[in-house]
Amino acid sequence: MEITNVETAVLGSAVEAASLPAQVGARELDISSVVVRVHTDEGITGFGESFYRSEENNKFLAESIDAMSRHIVGKDPQDVKAIWHELYLHVKRAGAYGALSAIDEALWDIKGKDAGKPLYQLLGGQTNEVKAYATFPADKTAEELIDYADWLSEKGFQAMKIGAGFGVEEDRHRIKTIMNNIPDDFGLAIDANTSYSYNDAAKVAKTASEYEVEWFEEPISHTDLDGQAELNRKFTVPISGYQTHTPHYPALDHLKARSLDIYQPSVDYVGGITGAMRVAGLVEAFDKELVPHALGPAINYAASLHVAAASRQCRLIEFAVLDDDLEDPGTYIAGQYIENQDAIHVDDGGTIDPPEEPGLGVRIDEDVFEEYRVD
Ligand SMILES: [Mg+2]
Repeated sequence: MEITNVETAVLGSAVEAASLPAQVGARELDISSVVVRVHTDEGITGFGESFYRSEENNKFLAESIDAMSRHIVGKDPQDVKAIWHELYLHVKRAGAYGALSAIDEALWDIKGKDAGKPLYQLLGGQTNEVKAYATFPADKTAEELIDYADWLSEKGFQAMKIGAGFGVEEDRHRIKTIMNNIPDDFGLAIDANTSYSYNDAAKVAKTASEYEVEWFEEPISHTDLDGQAELNRKFTVPISGYQTHTPHYPALDHLKARSLDIYQPSVDYVGGITGAMRVAGLVEAFDKELVPHALGPAINYAASLHVAAASRQCRLIEFAVLDDDLEDPGTYIAGQYIENQDAIHVDDGGTIDPPEEPGLGVRIDEDVFEEYRVD
């Protein structure tokens, strides 16, 4: 089989912007994306997807993919690992990890479609039932979040993740208020997106430990490995991260330093399925947990589900609930251009399975896809 050409499309967001109030400088979040289609001489087309969180940035991402396509046209798409390493030579200087990831996903999609099997089977098969936790980035008060926690718990979600980094007193108030009022079998996780100093993070970690918060994500700068290790050692709340790590190599340093208990690579950024499965292998060797960061568009989300299913130390995955007024919060709304929308869905027990069709298992609805195109 031979790759004949590579097409990209920049898509507008399928969801309204949600707020991420914990960031240094509040910012809006949308789920616009770049879809890559890798065509072959045997008529099989693979899909991949990444996103840089704005339409303007995504145009840069699409250009990066186009620039890299000259390295893969004419090659056998089955040679995923060899192609990954050739692209990595370019990416480690140019920094276009989203481009590498999207192309890698498309190659795995081709492999699966050619084999007639869902991707997780090619990755070694399903190892665990994977449950979903709900990331709920809406801008709500602690008191309002109590009702939303009940809503998400009834659906079967295992936990709710909210932004942190509002300041020590406000974060402590939010933890206490929510933890004192949510169902016993439902957890709360907090994510500061690297915004705290060590001293302030330690104060929040103390309260989070007392109230048995599920995890404290990216409390401080990701460059302060010793600080993370100290937080992880001093407090019982598990420290987690790092959605911005590229590719799998930084994982080894963080695991050796015991700086986190939960690793959260982004399939769309860590180097695609190849990169994420390598992180999974390292996480297993250190007996930690893998909980993929997956706050993205639908094709990439399907890729993340296959990685989760095939990773032995993964029992939980992120699921973005990006609208507070949904009839069913287990419906994935960040990818309206997918024809088989039902393939991505949290069931009433909180379980989420990877799509069963060959490859990544998602089909594009060409008409809707064209509506979302902004390039
Ligand atoms: Mg995060």
